[in-house]
Amino acid sequence: MLFSPLCSGSSGNASYLEAGGVRLLVDAGVTAKRLLELMDMIDISPAGLDAILVTHEHSDHVSGIGVLSRKYDVPVYAAAECWEHMPASIGEIAQKNIRVFEPDRDFYLQQLCVHPFTTPHDAAHAVGYTFVHDGKKLSIMTDIGHVSSRMLDAVANSDLILLEANHDVDMLKPGSYPYPLKMRILSSNGHLCNEDAGLVLQKLHGRGVKNAILGHLSEENNTPELALVTVQSVLEEAGLLSSMFVTVADRFRPCGLFEL
Ligand SMILES: [Zn+2]
Ligand SMILES: [Zn+2]
Repeated sequence: MLFSPLCSGSSGNASYLEAGGVRLLVDAGVTAKRLLELMDMIDISPAGLDAILVTHEHSDHVSGIGVLSRKYDVPVYAAAECWEHMPASIGEIAQKNIRVFEPDRDFYLQQLCVHPFTTPHDAAHAVGYTFVHDGKKLSIMTDIGHVSSRMLDAVANSDLILLEANHDVDMLKPGSYPYPLKMRILSSNGHLCNEDAGLVLQKLHGRGVKNAILGHLSEENNTPELALVTVQSVLEEAGLLSSMFVTVADRFRPCGLFEL
């Protein structure tokens, strides 16, 4: 299994995954032109992409899916409610490439088992994903206002997780965002703060997760250094820092190609 967060943050999200005979993107929230550049950085060609899987319809996750699907004839998978609320700006997608999955039910792409699980976020029907093949498990869990025990169970025993660490509460609260936007981000259907990301990893450590990439960082209300230090200090307090690998995804470029 090969995984790379191509870009991650409020300015656009896309990840590349290769496993079980399929090559896919989770989200494509930057221009198709930029996606091609990002894929080229890890020596991946867009030709032969088997699928684009969408977490939810916010533009930082879907802005490039239309062009990419049309240009390379790629099927796009999303929940029915997500399709209903898809922004018109993505343009037409060929009927045969509109694929609908049922959240919280596994499906297979070739030999890759895909589990889209419902997440708390202010979108039509947001999901996170787990991918399992050949005894390896990868999870993506961003755009989450909070983390329930059901979600912890879903991502348990992942070999690697891309987990949201969106903002630092003390940067967000006095910052320049309008009050309603601050409330939206802080709500239980908004985004996960650094401190909570640390607490989630603390719980996941006991559920067999030892490797994490922090992602979807806010440009204005976080920094990679602060996200990492905050999460690491939570883990250190729990005595777990030495047995947990944590890194931070880059906003604008792949932070690495991880082989599981
Ligand atoms: Zn969102
Ligand atoms: Zn987002």
